[in-house]
Amino acid sequence: MTQNSILFERAQRSIPGGVNSPVRAFKAVGGTPAFITRAQGAYMWDADGKRYIDYIGSWGPMILGHGHPQVREAVHAAVDEGLSFGAPTEREIALVEEILRLMPSMEMVRLVNSGTEASMSAIRLARGATGRSKIIKFEGCYHGHADALLVKAGSGLATFGHATSAGVPPEVVQDTLVLEYNNVQQLEEAFARFGSDIACVIMEPIAGNMNFVRASVPFMAAARRLTRTAGALLIIDEVMTGFRVALGGAQSLYAQAIEGFAPDLTVLGKVIGGGMPLAAFGGPRAVMEQLAPQGAVYQAGTLSGNPVATACGLATLRLIQQPGFHDQLAARTRQLTTGLQNAAQAAGIAMRVDSEGGLFGFFLLPTLPQNYREVLKTDGTLFNRFFHGMLRRGIYFAPALYEAGFVSAAHSEQDVADTVDAARETFAEMANG
Ligand code: PMP
Repeated sequence: MTQNSILFERAQRSIPGGVNSPVRAFKAVGGTPAFITRAQGAYMWDADGKRYIDYIGSWGPMILGHGHPQVREAVHAAVDEGLSFGAPTEREIALVEEILRLMPSMEMVRLVNSGTEASMSAIRLARGATGRSKIIKFEGCYHGHADALLVKAGSGLATFGHATSAGVPPEVVQDTLVLEYNNVQQLEEAFARFGSDIACVIMEPIAGNMNFVRASVPFMAAARRLTRTAGALLIIDEVMTGFRVALGGAQSLYAQAIEGFAPDLTVLGKVIGGGMPLAAFGGPRAVMEQLAPQGAVYQAGTLSGNPVATACGLATLRLIQQPGFHDQLAARTRQLTTGLQNAAQAAGIAMRVDSEGGLFGFFLLPTLPQNYREVLKTDGTLFNRFFHGMLRRGIYFAPALYEAGFVSAAHSEQDVADTVDAARETFAEMANG
């Protein structure tokens, strides 16, 4: 037996499914998950000593690669000063000021511990600020596991075939309208019907929880126009895209394409914590000041703004501002996606790819999907063969076809070339039946 399987058996005795977050269990693809012992740069090692080139990067935070020396130094120094104070610190201000400088759509930010908390709090704030109840989300978009948002979310939920989760009473989701992503007409109809009751629209600007699906410019423009006209808030969930697809997030890309574009509220996570539990939400002063203690919308957290997490986040945010950082990251990511697509084509296997900055997706489909329904057309068996073929060759891609991929600044040209070689072998194996 391998160490991985011994650990998986042991884990399943005391932890539900053996994991603390469902997708890690490899349930969709089958097999035994790799239990990771350490990581450095672009690599992770499992309990059997096998090395992987890591394209998950802790699901997004590790944009600098694992164990960047300056990040480690900042974290060590913070640990020496104290793990948690439950009191305000200067470092929280510094981190928030850095975020505000990089994302000018926000005037104020509150720090929390996870993306789930951030989007849950942003929704509560939108409801509090508008005095309205209804919210709109899109099929295949995931905003964390708060009750009201667990309706037709992508990723792990799609994998397990739940349209929604057990334990969420119907009355909790009765005000959550779920519409098709990139469908302008449905959005217009929803606003025509419910406009004055809608508190907010929440969306992933590039949906990374149904692999990689971009909001079309007309769709994003319609969401902005309809929310503004109806007095509802537009919440852009940049937990995955923030600081990764571009320094200013996906919103900076839409601001180039849509005159006067800015979201009302932004939800952040992953990269801003650099691998520590840290997330945030922010927006205009007039809205954010409705939060407690000034306002009537309650929100709190024992570990919010944690001094070690903020040190890690701040070091990360400073390092990704080096000139050319995102251009290089984007080029490396394109080297990967182009290489994968060519390898598939050489074996006669249909594959379409897309990427932005250090975020990428690949679909074993002849065309790029525009919504969740189209993503579901992927042949799961084919994907699983690809996944396991790559894993055997030491390439760690996401263990589900609904997940985006992540490249870090530590991935070298050689790492990507090795990955493409592994893909060529895997596709050839698949083509031979
Ligand atoms: N929003 C998006 C877009 C996400 O991708 C995720 C997590 N993958 C979340 C929210 C939830 O974040 P967390 O897992 O930190 O609660």
